[in-house]
Amino acid sequence: KRTIVWFRKDLRLHDNPALWEAANEGIVIPVFIWSEEDRLAYAASEASAWWLYHSLKQLETDLSQNGVQLIIKQGPEFDAIVDVMEQVGAESIYFNERYEPTERDRQMRIVGQLSSIGMDVRTFHGNLLFSPELLNKQGEPYKVFTSFWKRGLQEVVDRPLPIPELQGVENDISSVAIDALGLPTDLGTLQKYWQPGERAGTEQWAFFADDGMLHYKKERDLIAKGTSSRLSPYLAAGNSSARTIWHAAKRINEETRDVTAHQSIEAFLKQLMWREFAYHQLIHFPTMTDQPLRKQFNDFPWIGTPEQYNLWKEGKTGYPLVDAGMRELRETGMMHNRVRMVAASFLVKHLLIPWQEGYAWFQHALVDFDTANNATGWQWVTGCGIDAAPYFRIFNPYLQSEKFDPNGSYIKQWVPELANLPAKYIHKPFEAPEDILQEAGIQLGETYPYPIVDHATARKRALHAYDTIKGRS
Ligand code: FAD
Repeated sequence: KRTIVWFRKDLRLHDNPALWEAANEGIVIPVFIWSEEDRLAYAASEASAWWLYHSLKQLETDLSQNGVQLIIKQGPEFDAIVDVMEQVGAESIYFNERYEPTERDRQMRIVGQLSSIGMDVRTFHGNLLFSPELLNKQGEPYKVFTSFWKRGLQEVVDRPLPIPELQGVENDISSVAIDALGLPTDLGTLQKYWQPGERAGTEQWAFFADDGMLHYKKERDLIAKGTSSRLSPYLAAGNSSARTIWHAAKRINEETRDVTAHQSIEAFLKQLMWREFAYHQLIHFPTMTDQPLRKQFNDFPWIGTPEQYNLWKEGKTGYPLVDAGMRELRETGMMHNRVRMVAASFLVKHLLIPWQEGYAWFQHALVDFDTANNATGWQWVTGCGIDAAPYFRIFNPYLQSEKFDPNGSYIKQWVPELANLPAKYIHKPFEAPEDILQEAGIQLGETYPYPIVDHATARKRALHAYDTIKGRS
């Protein structure tokens, strides 16, 4: 049997159900298709496009080392698949599902088209722990994470799959070079911080499993220490498999007697389950990428200005923790989860700028951009999502900063103009006496901005704005 395996956001060989199944049945013809829709989608997410370029390079190498050539086609999927199918005499096509609304539409269309010409089309769940379509006992989507978590624990049953033995076939099908796809090969300073691809993802997991995961519960919020896994971009591109990580973490949990490690591993598994919950929401509420799940937020009186939006993006708000996060994002394509929450909340509540604008900037700049997680994150912070933080709970960026970056090392790393300020003043430079500022080489309003909004005033304004929509349905 000859089967086309269509690679999408599952750019890896291990635990890849579509690849595994095809390989076990015979000859595999791996294909990646770059359609106009892909080009448009990736145009909005530059950092992910850079990640894609390098992941594809790695996949191409890994496949060829396993004796199989990755075929890359441009143009509409149907034409590309039919072209390959005719040239190699394939009768079946397997692929792992994607869950974003536009991707689901594409999938449905393509499955219909290919089935109508007699092709055997099979789809698999390769990127999540289980199918996100599940419903609760009342036949409804889960709306509370804790119930979803309990149910989810019963659903993670399939064991991860190893890398299959691959058997290719001699062919002279024309294939486009990855370099010809127009993806960014170098992007700012990203290459300084990341090595995309399956191998690096596996190494990153091993590194985290060995140490960080065992202290995760206590240390994950210590921003400067950075003890979270940093696996998100690998998961987003499918270089890593959530299922492989889940089961490996479970095994470590079974082997250890350390209570701190148990608690930490459970806390980490919960984060992986949040990813599942995000996809569960996206499947059931596909409009959530740009529409609030709590409809009254459609009437929210947003009044922030484009100038403020730009200052936020540039990390020039005068709030050191927010600025550090936004600059880390620009420089590395990543931002710690705690800082994401604070920076996002600042945009939505302190500046009263619509969360969709924040979503768009994160989409553009994050190496781990993921439609489901980004939408869930923004709706959670705004208070307009499922199981979200209530709107009136407004993060105080100063307190967050004092608590999670107590000596200011994270701030000093990303906002170097504050590097010489004593820890006592690092969270609120405007409270530092003039001589201390001078000694630290800071001239407020010149070398570092005053806060663009006053915290207490902004807080009051946000609550007042919320009052205008509170009672509405
Ligand atoms: P860890 O703490 O090590 O967690 C392990 C894995 O669990 C992560 O890699 C991720 O896949 C998943 N995870 C962790 N936290 C969450 C969460 N809150 N929701 C869903 N899954 C989670 N995550 C993305 O992957 N892509 C995004 O585009 C994204 N946008 C976000 C936007 C906002 C406003 C907020 C508040 C959060 C967003 N997150 C997003 C969630 C979270 O910030 C990142 O997953 C996390 O910071 C990645 O770092 P890590 O891999 O070290 O995470």
